Amino acid sequence: MKNYLIIGGGIAGVTLAHQLENRNLTFDLVDNSPKYNSTKVAAGFWNPIVFKRLTMSFNADKMLPILKNFYSIIEQKIDNSFVNEVPQLKIFSTKEERHRFIDKAIVSEVSQFLDEEPIEKIEGIKAPFGMGKVIGTGYIDTVEYIEKSLEYFESNGSFINKKIDYSEIEYTPDYTGFSGKKYEKVIYCEGYHAVHNPLFPELRLKPTKGELLILEIPGLSQDFAFAKSAGLIPLGNQQFIVGSTYDWEDMTEDATEAARKKLLYNLSDFLELDYKVIDHQAGIRPSSFDRRPIIGKSSVQANVYIMNGLGTKGVMYAPFYSDMLINFIEHGAKLDEEVDFVRINDLN
Ligand SMILES: Cc1cc2nc3c(=O)[nH]c(=O)nc-3n(C[C@H](O)[C@H](O)[C@H](O)COP(=O)(O)OP(=O)(O)OC[C@H]3O[C@@H](n4cnc5c(N)ncnc54)[C@H](O)[C@@H]3O)c2cc1C
Repeated sequence: MKNYLIIGGGIAGVTLAHQLENRNLTFDLVDNSPKYNSTKVAAGFWNPIVFKRLTMSFNADKMLPILKNFYSIIEQKIDNSFVNEVPQLKIFSTKEERHRFIDKAIVSEVSQFLDEEPIEKIEGIKAPFGMGKVIGTGYIDTVEYIEKSLEYFESNGSFINKKIDYSEIEYTPDYTGFSGKKYEKVIYCEGYHAVHNPLFPELRLKPTKGELLILEIPGLSQDFAFAKSAGLIPLGNQQFIVGSTYDWEDMTEDATEAARKKLLYNLSDFLELDYKVIDHQAGIRPSSFDRRPIIGKSSVQANVYIMNGLGTKGVMYAPFYSDMLINFIEHGAKLDEEVDFVRINDLN
């Protein structure tokens, strides 16, 4: 009997699987391998700063060291490189914004992440008030992380490519059965699909559609990511991600002309160079109502757990909260109240 059955192979399920393996726990991971899921579409960026108020993003100081350590161990384990550290330039809209950034860089809870010296000019970027440099930012190539991890699990006999129907899983007091195999516990990591899961009837998500473009921009520096009304992330070979949109109404996974127009309009606010659009993708983020992850156990079935609600920050949240969930299950450690599934009742 294996220890765990994981359902869902986005960043939540794949990261949990690696964490289990790092602790010598056994698992099978099931995913239906869609061409796109939220993780494969994601820009994959992490940033410890909330730009609006120049404050620390939720728990970012705790999560950053764990993020770097975790992904670099996995890079070695699966013999692949998918982590890219790249500073981000915040393009100032006003003189006041510039002054506030410099003040916060000199002394504040986030000064370790802000450079005191503004950058005045980057070729091709319209920035009359200059730019503030954020340190400690970067992105992971999420497609590479997910696909190479799933190949690695498959080569070890622990990946099953299948769409699970809830009725296929048998729950008994001694084990959980699926496809002729037995498991001690199940963890559901289904992204926004979890709203239909009968074992988490209290679950409420606020799924958020997001779209992004891949552009070729000859002549633009690849040394920085940029942030203003849109974000620009360098991918190498003169390619950049432009992201992202937020839509709470349209729950199709189709790329739309409206989002493309909006992204390019926002980009024209600060990009002065010619470009070519080479791709356009859409995905549905599994966001929660209070924008915090959701981890914990089912109230209706023993030995069944969930990891969801990663919202806009899957890359930072996944290593930290998968570790917390496993410590909860294996050692009875407490979950942080802000992320515990039991809080969902209070949000309804
Ligand atoms: C446009 C866009 C940009 C983004 N940018 C960033 C960013 O820069 N930084 C960041 O940190 N986050 C970003 N995100 C958010 C991030 O992608 C999410 O937080 C994260 O991907 C959620 O991962 P997940 O594993 O919970 O869900 P998903 O990635 O959706 O994975 C769930 C998986 O479970 C599978 N599944 C569900 N039900 C079943 C079943 N019954 N049987 C088998 N398989 C099943 C699904 O097919 C899917 O493969 C972005 C998202 C979008 C859409």
